[in-house]
Amino acid sequence: MHEIAIVKDIFKTLEQAYPDTYKQISKIRIQAGLLANIQPILIQNAFEAFILDEVQFRETELEVELLPIIAHCTTCESDFEVRFHRFVCVCGQPSGQVMQGEELRISQVIFNDLNNIQ
Ligand SMILES: [Zn+2]
Repeated sequence: MHEIAIVKDIFKTLEQAYPDTYKQISKIRIQAGLLANIQPILIQNAFEAFILDEVQFRETELEVELLPIIAHCTTCESDFEVRFHRFVCVCGQPSGQVMQGEELRISQVIFNDLNNIQ
């Protein structure tokens, strides 16, 4: 189960990025490409398990957005969406040049009560 490791990693990244406001995070939104091998339900479960042990994050929510796979065709210079692992452009040319779909990134972090900090 690599989801637990991913969740721990997300919190570690946020702790480094927001050392002063880290404990005030109310919502985390992540984007996962379909090639990143992330199962939203598994990552939610891992997240729930993680925050059970971390009192300050009991109310924190996680939202997982899946990103489609986008490849680039060098024949007609356009980007196309890869469905059912078919890396073939609408023009008929095969292309494995992935533009989007492998990433796993934190896209948004929302904090509670920012005014109460300091
Ligand atoms: Zn093409």
